[in-house]
Amino acid sequence: MIYLDYNATAPLHKNVIKKIQNLKFEEFGNPSSVHKIGRNSKKIVEEVRRNILSALKAKNYDLIFTSGATESNNLAIKGFIKKNNIKTIFSLQTEHASVIDVVKNLDIEKKFFNINSNGNINLKEIEELLSKQTSSFLVSIMFANNESGIIHPINEIAKIVRKYKGIIHCDGVQGLGKIEIDLDSLDVDLFSISSHKIGGPTGVGALLINTRNNISPEITGGGQEKNLRSGTENFLGIVGFGEAINEVNNLAKICNSEIKNNRDLLEANLKKLSNEIKIFGEDTNRLANTCYFAYPSMTSENQVIALDQKGICVSSGAACSSGKVEPSHVLKAMQVDEKYIHSAIRVSLGWDSTKEQIETFFNIWKSDCFKNGALNVR
Ligand code: PMP
Repeated sequence: MIYLDYNATAPLHKNVIKKIQNLKFEEFGNPSSVHKIGRNSKKIVEEVRRNILSALKAKNYDLIFTSGATESNNLAIKGFIKKNNIKTIFSLQTEHASVIDVVKNLDIEKKFFNINSNGNINLKEIEELLSKQTSSFLVSIMFANNESGIIHPINEIAKIVRKYKGIIHCDGVQGLGKIEIDLDSLDVDLFSISSHKIGGPTGVGALLINTRNNISPEITGGGQEKNLRSGTENFLGIVGFGEAINEVNNLAKICNSEIKNNRDLLEANLKKLSNEIKIFGEDTNRLANTCYFAYPSMTSENQVIALDQKGICVSSGAACSSGKVEPSHVLKAMQVDEKYIHSAIRVSLGWDSTKEQIETFFNIWKSDCFKNGALNVR
């Protein structure tokens, strides 16, 4: 099996598996219980909280554990708006569904910054729009796009937002383990992360909140997580996340060296094959592990299936829970020609991806998708 879908979910890191396997009977309890086992597990949860804050250089932040970045994004946006009586939200059409869907369903004014054909934003346009803002506002912009890997200049956006007295939330999921994060310098108000993109378990994530900010809870009940997210903590998930976070900055280094070399090799081979192959975001600052490309013949779905039959896991863009493949909203926002949108596939590499795997992928794609594609023209 060749797994090249790290942006969807990274494989469980071997250290994480070991850590969970080695948990002792006396350590697994309900962190709210008063007895020894409860106190032991509480201690572990707090240790992981501190480790995550320290790995992300987030001295000025509190951390709330959630069930993943979908919940973190919901909590950040809805919880902040509710608590602070926010009147307007600014976001991007290319955000992950867990932001875009929340934004679209809000009962306040919604505005979207333009995305150019390179997949990025225009800082001047952002400044112009925000300078005219007369009521309270929240900006929600992702660190890096999960499909294209395009990295947004969050630091500069945060400075503009602050200049006009706004608040900024950043969906940081795809940055983690791919770029070293220094949250105190990034200086956003709210930052969402997820464990399963860095080798931790699925179903656990966190929202980091700058200590100068306040939010309202979305899930109420027993008052866990400082009253901001009730429900018994996902203890195993948190333990695994805590182990994965130990490697996060190391993974970012690997991403920008070996992984980048392999990704660049793949793209060089693709470009040699045909100048009809388009690599999205090629000239934009983007994640070093991501290659999102299209050759306008065979559909994305058919390519993913053909590759799967040869034991290769890639994605047609955003992973889709219903199994239904919708044309990419990211490529649409980038005004990519329809014929490319329907044939786009995303290859996302990770720490275990080897040069041999990339070469095997390329050869199989060439024979089963590129050459076969002519037979399947839509
Ligand atoms: N935001 C982005 C950018 C993502 O890539 C993902 C995962 N596909 C999410 C949010 C949702 O994260 P989770 O799976 O932890 O809910």
